[in-house]
Amino acid sequence: MKLQIPPYTVEVTRKKMRSIQLRITLEGDLKMSIPQQISLEEAEEFVRKHLQLITRKREELQNSPLVKKDAQLMFGQPFEVRVIPGETNHAEYADGIMTIYAKAPEDDTITKALMEKCILQMLKERSGMYLRFYAEKLGVEVPDYHFREMKSRWGSYSLKTKRISLNKRLINLDERCLAYVSAHELCHIRHPNHGEEYHRLLDEIMPENREILKLFR
Ligand SMILES: [Zn+2]
Repeated sequence: MKLQIPPYTVEVTRKKMRSIQLRITLEGDLKMSIPQQISLEEAEEFVRKHLQLITRKREELQNSPLVKKDAQLMFGQPFEVRVIPGETNHAEYADGIMTIYAKAPEDDTITKALMEKCILQMLKERSGMYLRFYAEKLGVEVPDYHFREMKSRWGSYSLKTKRISLNKRLINLDERCLAYVSAHELCHIRHPNHGEEYHRLLDEIMPENREILKLFR
């Protein structure tokens, strides 16, 4: 169902739940989950009542680094790109410079793909390093992990698959954020939720976690 509440279109889903939940996606869309017994009129009233707050939150979200989809940043830092004609297609990154060797240097699609591959490679290398570091502190094995596009979270740990997912957009943030998400998700191996014990454990393996959390804003 869709509710038209200018300037918003709100997608409404009924769920078995106790209270209304309203979510703003990174694309700025509004998604609402409502309990079975709530009428559409009541749902609409809820949105109208919180319109100011929604608009403010939406703006905050739009301005967050998470939505800079096409930013060419390496851990939050802009970098220089050099495209060089080469025998093979590949890219490497060191000290603020990405060197792209391309058989057809004028082909933007290929150079862009090489750049993305190189960025992903950097993410994998560094996250692997952090995961090994914090897994050792926790005394657990490094679980499977992968990077993917994620809409509203920086990372997650699946109890079912025992795998960590990391958001590709972490490349837009300070590298300490990647370290944080690595440690955060690893702690979920021990504690699925964010209870007291969870935080005690995170504090233990990464005492500076609260400071780093501020870098996400
Ligand atoms: Zn968590």
